[in-house]
Amino acid sequence: MNVLREKQRGERAVEQVLHTYRKRLHRKEAMYNAKAFSATSATSPLASTTIARRDPTETDVQIEILFCGICHSDLHQVRNEWSEFMPTVYPCVPGHEIVGRVTKVGAGVKKFKVGDLAAVGCMVDSDGTCPECKRGEEQFCPNMTLTYNFPDKHTGGVTYGGYSDSVVVDERFVLKVPANLDLAGTAPLLCAGITTFSPLHHWGVTKGKKVGIVGLGGLGHMGVKFAHALGAHVVLFTTSPGKTEDALRLGADEVVVSKNADEVAKHAGSFDFILDAVSANHDINTYINLLARDGNLTLVGAPNKPFEIPAFALIMGRRSVSGSPIGGIAETQKMLDFCGEHNITADVEVIPIQKVNEAYDRLLKSDVKYRFSIDMASLKNA
Ligand SMILES: [Zn+2]
Ligand SMILES: [Zn+2]
Repeated sequence: MNVLREKQRGERAVEQVLHTYRKRLHRKEAMYNAKAFSATSATSPLASTTIARRDPTETDVQIEILFCGICHSDLHQVRNEWSEFMPTVYPCVPGHEIVGRVTKVGAGVKKFKVGDLAAVGCMVDSDGTCPECKRGEEQFCPNMTLTYNFPDKHTGGVTYGGYSDSVVVDERFVLKVPANLDLAGTAPLLCAGITTFSPLHHWGVTKGKKVGIVGLGGLGHMGVKFAHALGAHVVLFTTSPGKTEDALRLGADEVVVSKNADEVAKHAGSFDFILDAVSANHDINTYINLLARDGNLTLVGAPNKPFEIPAFALIMGRRSVSGSPIGGIAETQKMLDFCGEHNITADVEVIPIQKVNEAYDRLLKSDVKYRFSIDMASLKNA
């Protein structure tokens, strides 16, 4: 009898799976075609294509994308450089720095109406029930859905990002954009912005604190702007003396060329917080030694070589080293509102989508000040 019951239970489970798939197939009827730029393999350039997106459901917001920033992650994903932990599913439509205007809302949507400005970052869904979600830290949810190349529970395929004319996202993951901000420069706030704002916020950077920012690229330049606006004394560390003038313009109080050991040594034991935004391999002990008692160094860049840190460098000053990914949805909204109050956007070079492959090559040479933002109107002619 038990065997029979087990068999019946097994059949019921199979039936349930089939039912879900049939529902998905059925759901595919409620889809529409969106224009997009995608890569079809790790070695092929991005090119114009058509993808299927779901029609907005009860709680969805449909957004016409106006600008999409180019993040270094887009390039890694498109070229399948993270194959070990996040293999790319092709075609791949990257883009998680999305700004646009609402064109349609589901009947149950409360926060948005047609015509509103809206933004979407690195996440488009989470379970909403786990302890992380309940604390508003969806970025740590074990069931979080990333904006692209992630299993899409609606379509059964993968999610498609912002190199597209439109996107459909549950309103819980759609953000409000302050009306005074330049939209091209707002797009990168959704990844580069929140990635730097969140640790500054978490580690209590306020007026009177001494903050170091290591590296002046897409992330670093946002770190300088935020730390300055929060009222901190900001010191920018760079390997290129040529960046001094720009760093001061962006809000740094001092600029230190990191190769100049004497200049660096003057700051020993003095920093409350250091944000390390360098992705190339480098010696972080130089910076750990600059931390004051209880000082923290947070990594937002991801060098591939493991760090070697002498225990006493941390023990003696009760110093700590940590890392930080993006931020939760409420914190991302707080960051956008802060940007609205202080009129902060990223420094961008606006490009048409047709220049995206060229932009990727330039990104590898750090040849951009400081982020590319794609004008998605150009996709209409692609
Ligand atoms: Zn990103
Ligand atoms: Zn969760």
